[in-house]
Amino acid sequence: TRTMASEKDKAQQAAAEGPPAAQQPTIFDKIVSKDIPATILYEDATALAFKDISPQAPVHFLVIPKKKTGLTGLSQATESHEQLLGHLLVVASKVAKQEKLQEGYRVVINDGKEGCQSVYHLHLHLGWPPC
Ligand code: AMP
Repeated sequence: TRTMASEKDKAQQAAAEGPPAAQQPTIFDKIVSKDIPATILYEDATALAFKDISPQAPVHFLVIPKKKTGLTGLSQATESHEQLLGHLLVVASKVAKQEKLQEGYRVVINDGKEGCQSVYHLHLHLGWPPC
């Protein structure tokens, strides 16, 4: 399993590769466009949920906005993102039910290099980390 230290190393590595520009595409854009495969659990006009490629719990999936709209991370949120951010939480709740997480789950958003973020396209983790 991944330790906090390696999480941080990965995030710092990502930051070292270049400052995350708001409109710079990430691997998640390729998942949205179906250029690379993912196990998609839910999709609508604005949100996508798919399984994490490196699960840290028996159920571990991500919820993302299809369009980043400047949201490289939560730290970039403004009032203009309120509706989208609310929608992502509703989608997270729906997919958690769909994936039968009725005993409970955690929602995590990593932000920035000190917050263990490695992909600069806002995403909610569900089911991780286990407590
Ligand atoms: P974070 O470290 O919070 O930025 O989370 C990024 C997450 O994206 C990690 O948990 C990775 O395992 C996951 N990830 C990276 N590439 C893919 C991919 N191609 N498909 C699914 N999940 C991915």
